[in-house]
Amino acid sequence: MIKLANLCYDYPNTCGLDHLDLTINTGEFVCLMGPNGSGKSTLLRILSGLATPKTGEYWLRDQAITANYLSDAQRRQRLHQTVGMVFQNTDVQLFNTSVAEEIAFGPRQLGLNDAEIAQRVTDCLHLTACETLRDRVPYQLSGGEKKRVALASVLALNPEILLLDEPLNGLTIAAQQQMLTLLQRLNAAGKTIIMASHNFQQVQAVGQRFIIFNSLHQLDADMSQADLQSQ
Ligand code: ADP
Ligand code: ADP
Repeated sequence: MIKLANLCYDYPNTCGLDHLDLTINTGEFVCLMGPNGSGKSTLLRILSGLATPKTGEYWLRDQAITANYLSDAQRRQRLHQTVGMVFQNTDVQLFNTSVAEEIAFGPRQLGLNDAEIAQRVTDCLHLTACETLRDRVPYQLSGGEKKRVALASVLALNPEILLLDEPLNGLTIAAQQQMLTLLQRLNAAGKTIIMASHNFQQVQAVGQRFIIFNSLHQLDADMSQADLQSQ
């Protein structure tokens, strides 16, 4: 579903990604692992269309995302309906006055009618166990609650691919477990999940495949759960 070839991304003074090749198939649950600064967020930003690689190719379902003739806006347009991202800092993505409004925002932008929007809000509140938060102000929620609401607002767009940047950071053990169970359920229901984490212990139980970045921003290894267990 996703194919990356020879992808490079540079920041003004640092290399973000150095010649990355990667294929991710429909329905996979992939964990991007590695220390802080190893390029996990940079990759997620490229996959979501927030960043454009300097060189290399990005294909999504046989559509070229990195083709030269596309503008950044066209690139994002091609990704918008397929890829949804939950940011590490959810405060940058929660800006509405209530949780229900937050979840309704995306579907409204898509031009859905009121009945469809209301249905998506109800469904996504239920999926993420956020029903009791419906009328709360997102900004005032706890860390774990904010992550679930951010996920609900992304799910409301019904993306095939979910990108999550350190979704467990700052959560209590119980909230981490709740988030992982939720992600596993979404994956079982058919979503492709790509999640960045610097903590292998937190995610080892759920990932099917672990892509390990080293601090030189190179792809070090690509291991399946079976490989890891046999080590
Ligand atoms: P990770 O998500 O694994 O922590 P990042 O993708 O955020 O890693 O960072 C990869 C590298 O790019 C690091 O060396 C980081 O310092 C650098 N970097 C990330 N964002 C920026 C930025 N906005 N400006 C300059 N350098 C950056
Ligand atoms: P967590 O265990 O997830 O860290 P917190 O201690 O942050 O939870 O929050 C506990 C409860 O207090 C949550 O229900 C949350 O909604 C509420 N809460 C947290 N911060 C605020 C705030 N700034 N304003 C209003 N309610 C808050």
